[in-house]
Amino acid sequence: MPATSDPAGIAAVEGLVRGLLFLGGFLLLALAERWRPRRGRHHRLDRRRRWTTNLGLAVIDTLVLRLVLPAAAVGAALGFEAQGLGAFPMLGLPGWLAAVVGFLALDLAIWAQHVAMHRVPLLWRLHRIHHLDTALDTTTALRFHPAEILLSAGWKILVILVLGIPATAVLAFEAALSLAALFNHADLDLGQADRPLSSVIATPDWHRIHHSTVPAETDSNYAFLLTLWDRLSGLARTAPAGGHDAMNIGLQDDPAGRASLPGLLILPLRKHDPGSSNRFA
Ligand SMILES: [Zn+2]
Repeated sequence: MPATSDPAGIAAVEGLVRGLLFLGGFLLLALAERWRPRRGRHHRLDRRRRWTTNLGLAVIDTLVLRLVLPAAAVGAALGFEAQGLGAFPMLGLPGWLAAVVGFLALDLAIWAQHVAMHRVPLLWRLHRIHHLDTALDTTTALRFHPAEILLSAGWKILVILVLGIPATAVLAFEAALSLAALFNHADLDLGQADRPLSSVIATPDWHRIHHSTVPAETDSNYAFLLTLWDRLSGLARTAPAGGHDAMNIGLQDDPAGRASLPGLLILPLRKHDPGSSNRFA
């Protein structure tokens, strides 16, 4: 990674890199899921309805983000960098060190945000839409309420501002995070490779445990990229109690998860939502 960032160059390639990575990653993983499905029979259940909902949310999220925060995290990082804002420039950290520490700090920040989304009742109202998917495949990585996407972008921008993370590191992180989410939600059988790989990054088997209907399992394996944070915090689980084939995906309080796309968008506003109250009773 270069010690200094080239704002014009980064801005020009950002959209292209992220767009290509998303499309390429999505198509490759969707094909791989057909080639080596981990839970194929579950995955095929309700696929048309799930894909319509998940891809519909992806389109809405992209439009909302572009409308509210058109420059997003990379654009914000370019602006802060040009003004020399943040702790890293003030401390005179070398560019390469600021980039490495900044990348790790962003991953930790997203991990901490994910834990907060589960532990704070108001935030859980938003995040449970992601967990209401009754099967897991690469489209589940796109299933987030637009308010959670905006919250996440705002949180990342705050971390970038406080630390002064170089834009190149932000671009690398954003690309890695998108790809990692598509990968670890995929219904993909990695065979013997899954376990050793999960000692570094969140694999499909690692992340599937987080989507279990068993509450203690939902409250573990929060990592999207590095599993280090789960291990350090004691929130790691290496296997679901019911086994990967038999385990149920979704939420215990709404096992059918049948809300329509408009229904999911207004779900967080429902005052007496059964999921929000039961979970924190
Ligand atoms: Zn979660």
